[in-house]
Formats: sequence, C-alpha cells, structure tokens
Amino acid sequence: MCMPRRNLDAPAAIKAVIFDLDGTITRPRLDFDAIRAELALPPKQPVLEAMAQMSPERCAAAEAVLERHEREAAEQSELHDGAHATLEGLRQRGIRTGLLTRNSRRSTDTVLAKHDLAFDFIRTREDGVTKPSGEPIEVICRVLRVSPARTLTVGDFLFDIQAGRAAGTRTALMIGEREAPPFADEADCVIRDLTEILAIVDGIAGATTTPTTKQSEP
Ligand SMILES: [Mg+2]
Repeated sequence: MCMPRRNLDAPAAIKAVIFDLDGTITRPRLDFDAIRAELALPPKQPVLEAMAQMSPERCAAAEAVLERHEREAAEQSELHDGAHATLEGLRQRGIRTGLLTRNSRRSTDTVLAKHDLAFDFIRTREDGVTKPSGEPIEVICRVLRVSPARTLTVGDFLFDIQAGRAAGTRTALMIGEREAPPFADEADCVIRDLTEILAIVDGIAGATTTPTTKQSEP
C-alpha cells in the first residue's frame, strides 16, 4: 500500500535503508509535548535545538529530564508490526541497514537489546550533528559504502525526510495509523507498514501508485 510521491518507479536499485527509531521502528512513545512542558519550552520547539541555546547549568538539568523520558520510553517500547521481518528481508537481499536517531546512545541500546534488533551502523545524538541536517545521512552512506542515490531514508517526522532529501537519498514517511501530515508531500513515498519497504526495494512500489486517495481508486 505504498503511495509514491515522486520518481520511485525507475530509479537506481536501493542498496541501503537508513531508519529512524522512535515512531518508525518502534511505536511512537516519546511525548515531546510533555518534555517541552517540563523544560518550559514553547510548543513545537525542537528540544535538542532549544538545549543547544541553554546555559550549561540549565542544559544539564534539561538533559536529565530528557534522559528520564527516553529511558522510560525505551523500557516500554513496542515494535511496529513487521520490524523484524523487514530487517530480515533487507538482510536476505544484501541491503545494508543504518539507524539514525536523535535519541541518546543509552536509550537506543535499551531498545535494541529489548527487541533483539541489529543494524549495520548506528548513529545517535552523541555522534555529532543530527537530523534535520543531511550530514549524518551522508556519514552513514559513506560507512555503509552506498551512495545516497541508492539509499532510502525512512522516518516518521519532518526532520527525517528533510535529512534524507538534503543528503540526496530517497525518502519514505512512515505514518502507521496516523493521518498523513501536511509535510507528507515532501517524502517520495508514504507507508503505513514497515514491510512496504521490501516492496519499495523490490521495485514494485509503483504498482499501487499515487497519493493519499488510494481507497477511492478503481
Ligand atoms: Mg521518529
């Protein structure tokens, strides 16, 4: 049920897939509104960017709040349906996998250990500049030895899509049960289920075609 937005039907074969973690591999758990409220941040302000502007003391206190939320979310995390099947399917096809998350290394390790997940390369916020910059995507592509043009970035948030596009990868927005958000137009493809990624890399995503009105098509 993939809904391609643009040129997914005749591109070079996908050789790597870079995933977001919270809300993509796992069901969305982190309550960013609650984190912002605890940190007295305005609605919608990205938390990491706000922390970068704080005094060292306030930033340290904010880091503790964020770590607590991340730890609880990681401990309670649940996988999206098809996560294991998708990663195994990619492995069987020889397609490399990366994980790029704005979460901490500790909370990421907790999620991966809890669900017995493995990726070829993992980058967390401690590793340097993060999404929405395209730079971390470029770094992962270099490590995986796959060009961005042969890479698919998968995430549930605007920053995932912006990072993937900035690096020159193709992009898939994972919406699960949600309505497609306004920024869905910026992604090459919108998916509701992770296993749709296997259809994309197999080059059959175009079979079900076009935007969000699939149900009304003949
Ligand atoms: Mg996410």
